[in-house]
Amino acid sequence: MAIKSLDDLLAEGVSGRGVLVRSDLNVPLDDDRNITDPGRITASVPTLRALCDAGAKVIVTAHLGRPKGTPDPELSLAPVAAALGEQLGRHVQLAGDIVGSDALARAEGLTDGDVLLLENVRFDPRETSKDDAERQALARQLADLVSGPDGSPGAFVSDGFGVVHRKQASVYDVATLLPRYAGRLVEAEVKVLQQLTSSSERPYAVVLGGSKVSDKLAVIENLATKADSILIGGGMCFTFLASQGVSVGKSLLEEGMIETCRKLLDTYADVIHLPVDIVVADKFAAEATPETVRADEIPDDKMGLDIGPGTVERFTNLLSNAKTVFWNGPMGVFEFPAFAAGTKGVAEAIIAATGKGAFSVVGGGDSAAAVRQLGLPSDGFSHISTGGGASLEYLEGKKLPGIAVLEE
Ligand code: ADP
Ligand code: MG
Repeated sequence: MAIKSLDDLLAEGVSGRGVLVRSDLNVPLDDDRNITDPGRITASVPTLRALCDAGAKVIVTAHLGRPKGTPDPELSLAPVAAALGEQLGRHVQLAGDIVGSDALARAEGLTDGDVLLLENVRFDPRETSKDDAERQALARQLADLVSGPDGSPGAFVSDGFGVVHRKQASVYDVATLLPRYAGRLVEAEVKVLQQLTSSSERPYAVVLGGSKVSDKLAVIENLATKADSILIGGGMCFTFLASQGVSVGKSLLEEGMIETCRKLLDTYADVIHLPVDIVVADKFAAEATPETVRADEIPDDKMGLDIGPGTVERFTNLLSNAKTVFWNGPMGVFEFPAFAAGTKGVAEAIIAATGKGAFSVVGGGDSAAAVRQLGLPSDGFSHISTGGGASLEYLEGKKLPGIAVLEE
C-alpha cells in the first residue's frame, strides 16, 4: 500500500495545524558536549523547514544516546536544539520534559511556523518498553500534544530513518494514532534502498566492516546470493580469519560466530573476500605504533586495527568495475589517524567507481562520519544513508516496523 508523503500533507494544508515529527537527531558529542558530526541534524532540516514555511506548529521528538529511561543531563537535547535552530535559521525551543507540564504549556503557546523540540524521548522508559500498552500510553500523550483546541487530530511525520527499524512509542505506536506521512529523509532513504534491492546493476560489490560481526552476518547471508563480491574488513574480518584457523592475536573476535563464518566462507567462497594483510599494534590507542603483517601472521600479542595496503589494492581492483556498491562499516579504527588508511583507501575506490557511473550507497553512522572526518567529498557517493541498522535490516529483507506502520 502506498505511503503518504510530506508533499501529500502539505497539499492538504498544514497552516496552524499541529504536526509531530520524529526526527533522528542522535549526533555524536565530545566530552564537553560539542557536536562532533552534525550530519543527522542537517539531514533532518528539509522536512522541518518545509513544515515551518507552510505555517505548521511543529513539535519534534527525538532521542540522544542511550539514557536508562530516566532524565540524564549529560544526554539533554539542549546542544541539538541550538544547532538545529542555527541550521533552520529560526529559534527552536526546547521543552524541559517530553509530555510533561512544560511540554504541554509550550505546545499550547505555539504560533504558526514555530518549532518546539521535546526533551530526549528515551528519558521516558515507555519509549522503548516491550509492553505495548506502556508504549501506547506515551504515544497517546505525544499525539495529544498536536491535537487542535477543538480536539481535531494533528499529523505525524516519520522522518527519523535511523530508528525506523525500532518498534518504539515515538516511531511506531504514535503512527497508529495520527494521520501519518513519510518525511523527506525517510522517503529518500527508502527510495535508494529499493533501488539497491530491486534493480542493482552488476557487478554489485558490498563492502562490510565495523565492529560487530553478529549484527552484520544476516546481511551477508542475504546479500551473498545477490552480490558478486563481498569485501570484508574492519573488526569483523578477524572472526572470519579465525574461522579459517588463522590466529588473530588480540584482535576483536566473536567466538560464538566462528562456526557461522566458516559456513558462509564454505558456501560463498568465490564471493567473500578477506584481507590479505593487516595493520597491527600492541594496544588500542591513537599513539600505538602501526605495523603491517600478513593476515595469517598476526602476532599473538598484537591486535589488528586496520586492513593493510595490499588489501586496499585488492579491494580497489575488485571495486574498479563495480556498477553498484553498498558500503557499511569502516575498514579500521579510522578515528586514529595511524589506522585510517584502509578506510580512506576503500572509500576512494568507491568514489572512483561512482565517478565512472556506479550507484554507490554508504550506510552506517560511523561510516558516514568517517567520510566526513577523513575529508572525503560526500558528493563522491550516490547516497550517504543516515541509518546503519535500519538500512542493514532493510537489505536483510526484514520489514521495518516504522515503515510498515506508515503503509497501513
Ligand atoms: P557503522 O556505524 O558504520 O555501521 P559500526 O558501528 O559497525 O559501523 O563500527 C564502527 C566502529 O568500528 C568504528 O568506531 C571503528 O573504530 C571500529 N573498528 C573498525 N575496525 C576495527 C578494528 N579492527 N578493531 C576494532 N574496532 C574497529
Ligand atoms: Mg556505528
